[in-house]
Amino acid sequence: MGTERITGKTGLLALLGSPVGHSASPAMHNYSFDKLGLDYVYVAFDVPEEKVPDALNAVRTFHMRGVNVTMPDKIAAAKNVDELSPAAKIIGAVNTIVNENGKLVGHITDGVGFNENLRDHGVEVKGKKITVVGGGGAATAIEVQSALDGAREISIFNRKDKFFSRIQETAEKIMAEVPDCKVNVIDLEDREAFKREILDSDILVNATIVGMKPMDDKSVVDDMSVFHEGLVVADTVYNPLETKLLKDAKDHGCKVVNGKGMLLWQGVAAFKLWMGVDMPVDEVKAKFFAE
Ligand code: NAD
Repeated sequence: MGTERITGKTGLLALLGSPVGHSASPAMHNYSFDKLGLDYVYVAFDVPEEKVPDALNAVRTFHMRGVNVTMPDKIAAAKNVDELSPAAKIIGAVNTIVNENGKLVGHITDGVGFNENLRDHGVEVKGKKITVVGGGGAATAIEVQSALDGAREISIFNRKDKFFSRIQETAEKIMAEVPDCKVNVIDLEDREAFKREILDSDILVNATIVGMKPMDDKSVVDDMSVFHEGLVVADTVYNPLETKLLKDAKDHGCKVVNGKGMLLWQGVAAFKLWMGVDMPVDEVKAKFFAE
């Protein structure tokens, strides 16, 4: 990016979170602004959770077009915006904020990104039964968005940690908002139920940290007989790109989708919310997300 294009009129967007230095978001958004001739820049600010209200006031003061929000700021940000999208309201977290003339509107594009990535791989969630392992941030976004996108049934498995009761509450909220979608929450220790639900599902998703470095020799699935014909297996983990779960699933004939595309597509959705136009997805994909 040439600095000559930054003028007194250039608009500002940013990523808020901590840490933020490793993020791919500045590169992909700035590249897209350059490609489309949009007069904006995107930077990253390290913002601890307690500073989120200050940071959002700065968004207003500086007339920033918007921000992305990452861990650990997503929940505090949801509490400090003026309005929430339907998905962000159910989840109680945001990863994208749009500044509508001083009114901050919070969205969550992680679930949109996950489902768009599935679509990009020829997989549609509408009408499907999905088993999701996880009840944390990524999992909740996927579960809520899948219900909003027309999934028929979602079986959520989580171990009995602090996330379990939270995901039970979220499941109630999903069924209240989307009565056509049945949501089950089951203890991950119940291996019989786990097998039964996967055998009955079209899509299996891992949205836990299991499989991510340094747990990269682990998988949420230890019984290979769950990998039935027609099952699509997707992972939110992108480090490593091919998790043990995906390798096992592929070896047993399943179609697999890794976590990298979710990063791309959550950004694509955020870009559209801020700019009103599509990110040049094919070029961004080729430049930053080639496999
Ligand atoms: P989180 O801390 O909010 O949730 C962690 C989840 O992992 C919980 O469900 C917890 O119960 C489960 N868990 C932790 N240790 C476990 C264990 N030993 N066995 C079984 N379950 C266990 O985390 P998060 O932000 O939701 O992230 C979850 C995963 O999603 C991470 O791997 C992260 O890299 C990935 N993620 C990917 C993207 C993307 O764009 N691809 C975006 C966000 C998160």
